[in-house]
Amino acid sequence: MTDTLSRILYIDLSDGRSWVEDRRDLFDDRIGGLGVAVKLYSEKCKLGSDPFDPENPVVFTVGPLNGLYPSISKTVAVFKSPITGTYGESHAGGRLSIAIRMAGYGAIVIIGYSDKPVFIDIEDSNVRFRDAKPLLGLSSLEVEERLRTCTRAMESIVSIGLAGERVCFYASVNVDRYNYFGRLGLGAILGSRNVKALRIRGSGSIKPKDPEGYRRLFEKLYRVIVETDAMAKYHYTGTPANIMVLNEIGALPTRNFRESKFEYAEDISGEKIGETLLERKASCPLCPIGCMHIARLRLEFARGYEYEPIDVYYNYESMYALGTNLGLKNPTDILRLIYTANLYGFDTMLLGNVLAWMTEAYESGLISDSDTNGLKLSWGDIDPYLEAVKRIAYGDKDLYIYAAQGLKQLTDVYGGRDYAIQIAGNGMPGYHTGYASIIGFLVASRHSHNSNAGYDIDQQALKRRYTDEEFIDRIIEEEDWRNILVSLVACMFSRRVYSPDVVIDALKTVGFDYSLDELIRIGKEIYTDIYRIKSSEGFDPRRIYVPRRLFETPSASGILSEERFRKLLDLYMERRSISSST
Ligand code: SF4
Repeated sequence: MTDTLSRILYIDLSDGRSWVEDRRDLFDDRIGGLGVAVKLYSEKCKLGSDPFDPENPVVFTVGPLNGLYPSISKTVAVFKSPITGTYGESHAGGRLSIAIRMAGYGAIVIIGYSDKPVFIDIEDSNVRFRDAKPLLGLSSLEVEERLRTCTRAMESIVSIGLAGERVCFYASVNVDRYNYFGRLGLGAILGSRNVKALRIRGSGSIKPKDPEGYRRLFEKLYRVIVETDAMAKYHYTGTPANIMVLNEIGALPTRNFRESKFEYAEDISGEKIGETLLERKASCPLCPIGCMHIARLRLEFARGYEYEPIDVYYNYESMYALGTNLGLKNPTDILRLIYTANLYGFDTMLLGNVLAWMTEAYESGLISDSDTNGLKLSWGDIDPYLEAVKRIAYGDKDLYIYAAQGLKQLTDVYGGRDYAIQIAGNGMPGYHTGYASIIGFLVASRHSHNSNAGYDIDQQALKRRYTDEEFIDRIIEEEDWRNILVSLVACMFSRRVYSPDVVIDALKTVGFDYSLDELIRIGKEIYTDIYRIKSSEGFDPRRIYVPRRLFETPSASGILSEERFRKLLDLYMERRSISSST
């Protein structure tokens, strides 16, 4: 193992202390990244406690390949989620993983509560707690500009916006401007502890154990990425390429999942925006893919005033959630809404699900003008959506206060559960592909489509026949293997480059010697570790409500039957060898 990876930096906000512990045992056992994060989290989290209990840890981890191999650019965050009420996990790119490693750590664990707003300034072995009052109310983009220094060290800026400060349950955390810990409310947790930002600067280096083997493998992988079409989609059109693909097969959620085709898909497609609004592409360090597509917009300061140019990072998930699912057909409107959501610091996906629910509830009379405080939400109408985002961020009136807590809270108060597109509290991603998408999202340890790619398995099943057992086993195999990739910590877009053989070879160059069987065993154990935490806090996949809407609107696999869905879920539990009471 590389020397400093096993060093864990602990930070206690309550008494302003920090210390380092060497936990080689955890890295030997669980590789790094996700595997280690789950262990560190379970050592300190209080089962059954409130997600905002300051004794619950926030854990950031990196893995043995971060800072060495192309596209191994992510950091894992594990925390207790206010959205699900239990284990939460999110991943972000940017410079963070390399900065943590170059500062000499494999993980950072934050506990406690600060009685004053702070930003935590980590520079190699120095940890300082700085006054964050001058940063309050600023967006992450502004915080990034203020905290960025001209340094030779690798520097990463992590911060929350107003939504996080005000503890909106699905506040995101921005990393280095274009990257996010978007899902499950890490921004709310940091905001509740009075942490506005972290700045991590590392001036050390990261060295492989076998430099010659490392150089050979790096060159081979680099060539695969830049000289073959393995990653071409991500570079040329980016994930918004999915808009046309999913529309074609009838899987593109539209107007709160009431339809699965959008009549204006071509106008807002990744290809179209690429031709008209794309300004440039950005990349995480050491990644030659450059998947981040940045558009340029002109925004009027106010009516009749001058314009300012703004950069907007757009991807498929934001375009679905704040675009097709709200019936917005003008790309500029969608980009403005994404920009506004990021300015306040929301998870764009759950925010989109909330706005879609509010529109349908308003349209059907479930909520009234008095609830919305006069805002007339309607499909495709941008101005009320922009205003609604602002009101949710500021907690204006009851409806917006509940809306800031997510769909579960909204429907507990107002009803309309059948068309609140969430599972276990988390807003659903933009893939109405079939059974695997729903089951995969429900059973995924972090309720993310990226955990086991059910949406992709559904699309494969459109071309070839799976037995029920094969279908379920594909979900299980994918999640177990992805647990390994997230322990490295790889970007999921590069998963086809990091095949099992490549992962085994890459790990050898940094001093880990694993067989494929051992890796698969570890991937399964990670799933079981997480499931055990969730299950002991009451999570039971069979008891989770799945919105009726998903069984009403045709998917790419046709109309889905709830009975068949339940049968497949039982099969999943059986083949995972987990019961409701595990
Ligand atoms: S593919 Fe994109 S998100 Fe992934 S590491 Fe590269 S630039 Fe970052």
